[in-house]
Amino acid sequence: MVHRQAMPHQDAKERAHNFNEVALGYSSEQAIAEASRCLECKNPVCVDGCPVNIDIPAFISWMKAGDFDRAIDIIKLTNSLPAVCGRVCPQEVQCEELCVLAKKGEPVAIGRLERFCADHERERGVVPPSKVEHTGKKVAVIGAGPAGLTAAADLAKAGHEVTIFESLHETGGVLTYGIPEFRLPKSIVKEEVDYIRQLGVDLKVDYVIGKIKTLDELREDFDAVFLGTGAGLPKFMGIPGENLNGVYSANEFLTRVNLMKAYQFPNYGTPIKKGKKVIVVGGGNVAMDAARSALRLGAEEVSIVYRRSDDELPARREEIDNAKEEGIVFRLLTNPVRILEGENMTVNGVECIRMELGEPDESGRRSPVPKEGSEHVIDADVVIIAIGTSPNPMIFSGSSGLETNSRGTIIVDENGKTSLDNVYAAGDAVTGAATVISAMGAAKVAAASINRMLSN
Ligand SMILES: Cc1cc2nc3c(=O)[nH]c(=O)nc-3n(C[C@H](O)[C@H](O)[C@H](O)COP(=O)(O)OP(=O)(O)OC[C@H]3O[C@@H](n4cnc5c(N)ncnc54)[C@H](O)[C@@H]3O)c2cc1C
Repeated sequence: MVHRQAMPHQDAKERAHNFNEVALGYSSEQAIAEASRCLECKNPVCVDGCPVNIDIPAFISWMKAGDFDRAIDIIKLTNSLPAVCGRVCPQEVQCEELCVLAKKGEPVAIGRLERFCADHERERGVVPPSKVEHTGKKVAVIGAGPAGLTAAADLAKAGHEVTIFESLHETGGVLTYGIPEFRLPKSIVKEEVDYIRQLGVDLKVDYVIGKIKTLDELREDFDAVFLGTGAGLPKFMGIPGENLNGVYSANEFLTRVNLMKAYQFPNYGTPIKKGKKVIVVGGGNVAMDAARSALRLGAEEVSIVYRRSDDELPARREEIDNAKEEGIVFRLLTNPVRILEGENMTVNGVECIRMELGEPDESGRRSPVPKEGSEHVIDADVVIIAIGTSPNPMIFSGSSGLETNSRGTIIVDENGKTSLDNVYAAGDAVTGAATVISAMGAAKVAAASINRMLSN
């Protein structure tokens, strides 16, 4: 059996000091060799693992033949953000997990092949989409993250006049302000957004719904509204010292670094406190991104503090391995108790307690229990909190009757319809913080429902 092609990477020592992309992508030879590993199963179960239902065997078979143009055409039939998904989707627990080769060894590297096709097309110049006949119906999409962009693309392809309202000055949502340049270059996000613009979508940035216009007002001007407002409100631990200078939510820290280019300050961008000893609390993708960004800003030591063990770390294994290779210290089974105060209300260390794993909780994961008498202090001058987010309630001011649950997420039915007529929603605003592809998959369902409703 031919082994899975390894992804070329920037050297760990070098990349820990720059913001250039870590994974370098396959060559054409590697892409064809990897595609040739696909067994072309009669029952391609890999497709069941793809929330946007890419015809995986079809695009891979064109790659085997070296026809990358046809391969990308197939991918783009159902996925408008292939270069993004090829980079950040957790394929190992989706399409690749179901690949029959995974049962006995290594699955086909479906995500890397998708990335290759998208990059190949971009390098040669993306062919603009053909124009469609207009239906005369108008749809407002709120939020230009993966959910909003996907819904907008599908609705524009169906002939509706689509306007996206985005509160930030850049489009892309978390793809632009959250995920760092070294995992997802912003020029790539921009180009994929440009393609969606070329489908005829009108993009209005710096436009906060709930402030500039309310949802109720939008409903009067449009035939349907799609809410893809994400879950951008950070959670804190509620421990003493969280108000000190040098404590950031991961959202603020990453927004300053990615969207506002703090790593180019003072020549360009916004200031940020570049810590010498940085502690990041949490164990998900967000925590890994914050830790690796802090290292690249010049920190001497960056630690992940996580209350469970290595097995329970929720981040993608690939990103955990990358972080370890770059020298991030993992302080596992450890939980902060309070942040210590130094001069002028700055951070001067974090008092932590060791944890043990007890009985499984409702999620099936063993609950961490504090170990009495194990308190200890870890040196730190910057603390970044990455323990989760919830939807920003801004959208609800001036939206009479939009139902949410106790976590603040929007309630929808199986078609993505909210409690309001002609208003649909998908993505993190509905599920809470999840993944790019799950947001896109749900947005496609909602867009199809809007299309059916408008066609009737
Ligand atoms: C740092 C980080 C790393 C991640 N890494 C990964 C990863 O590797 N793989 C993965 O699959 N997922 C990852 N995720 C999760 C993933 O990015 C999200 O699940 C996904 O972006 C959700 O898409 P969305 O469109 O629902 O929301 P978002 O991407 O949050 O987009 C919502 C958009 O709506 C806008 N908005 C909000 N309120 C308003 C309003 N009132 N008016 C107008 N606009 C508004 C926001 O500004 C934003 O642009 C990561 C998340 C973070 C934060």
